Amino acid sequence: MAQTFDVCIRGAGIAGRALALLLARERLSVALVAGPKPQAADVRAYALNASSRTLLQQLRCWPDEEHATAVTQMQVFGDLDGSVQFDAASQGVDALAWIVDVPALEQRLAEAVRYQPMVEVVSEPVDAPLTAVCEGRSSRTRSEFGVDFAITPYPQHALATRLRCELPHGQSARQWFSNEGILAFLPLDGAQGQEVGVVWSTAPEQAQAWQAADAQDFAEHLQAISQNALGSLSLSAARMCWPLQQAAADHWCGRMPGDAARSWVLVADAAHNIHPLAGQGLNLGLGDVQALARILQERAYWRSTADLRLLRRYERERKAALAPMGLAMDGLQQLFARPEVPVQMLRNLGMKGFERLGPVKHWVARQAMSH
Ligand SMILES: Cc1cc2nc3c(=O)[nH]c(=O)nc-3n(C[C@H](O)[C@H](O)[C@H](O)COP(=O)(O)OP(=O)(O)OC[C@H]3O[C@@H](n4cnc5c(N)ncnc54)[C@H](O)[C@@H]3O)c2cc1C
Repeated sequence: MAQTFDVCIRGAGIAGRALALLLARERLSVALVAGPKPQAADVRAYALNASSRTLLQQLRCWPDEEHATAVTQMQVFGDLDGSVQFDAASQGVDALAWIVDVPALEQRLAEAVRYQPMVEVVSEPVDAPLTAVCEGRSSRTRSEFGVDFAITPYPQHALATRLRCELPHGQSARQWFSNEGILAFLPLDGAQGQEVGVVWSTAPEQAQAWQAADAQDFAEHLQAISQNALGSLSLSAARMCWPLQQAAADHWCGRMPGDAARSWVLVADAAHNIHPLAGQGLNLGLGDVQALARILQERAYWRSTADLRLLRRYERERKAALAPMGLAMDGLQQLFARPEVPVQMLRNLGMKGFERLGPVKHWVARQAMSH
């Protein structure tokens, strides 16, 4: 007899694999549909918060210290002399975030899936009461289900790579806002590391030109934008580009076309995209994973995983969590995208004022750490 599944997960990225492992722990049988392997390794490193870390630790997939560097300080610089600093000690925590090597995390998740007997990796979608769509921002299944995905493109691409630095990063994450966009240096390789993950959000033509530019010229240009903070820099990985967008699906769950007994639900980037400037996209996605797994686990024994009341509860809960984060990222991106001198002065003055506002600053830091 053919194997039956409780849930079919389409997409074996970080969100899809984490969801598969979490549901399997609740004794649900899962088919995980894996797409073709990517051509090149991901050069990115993600800033993950405490809640994502706890989830990945519970799944025994949190990478070792070398691949998950604790951030004890964050420094944000404006284009005049405005700056804001956060540090873990004054927030009463061990780390503000962790910078996680993406290939290392993907490998840990893939291994855990291999040893989980309740998860079967398949190459085509299978029938199940619930289909969870974890196919990322360009999800084909979401389009097939006729979901409206309202996209607002930013006039920016993110150019990501890695740099070796003359000076140790000192576990500090640094960000520079300027007319050339937003440049982030994220500490890698553990506490003593001298390598940083780079995310530079800049005009598309600028991103494309610098992606193709001579490696030494590129490193020197970033050294100038970063005000020589880590000394001389050299490129240590390929350069990859992502167009940036804010996007959200109008509805996140529904009945499978032509089958009233089966349902679908959108999870993580398939449901929403935000600007990566505060490194929150996957944190929100893993929040979706936790909420969906909890709601399915708490259901009455006679309710199916396809029950739309459960899925709508998940949608309401997660849309509420997403709204403030999406608005904040959009506002910051727009404030720093304006080249006019008064706006430039205003944002630097704003940064200085913010730096003096102890309780407000503390509140903002806690919001960023916990979402
Ligand atoms: C430059 C940049 C930096 C970022 N930095 C951070 C950060 O610091 N912190 C943070 O929290 N977030 C960050 N993000 C956001 C983060 O990348 C995403 O939120 C995260 O990758 C979403 O994971 P996902 O599993 O939903 O989607 P994806 O990572 O896109 O995975 C989707 C998977 O589904 C597969 N797939 C697609 N279609 C099909 C199909 N039809 N059938 C089967 N499989 C399919 C794909 O091959 C892929 O494996 C950043 C994003 C960018 C662009």
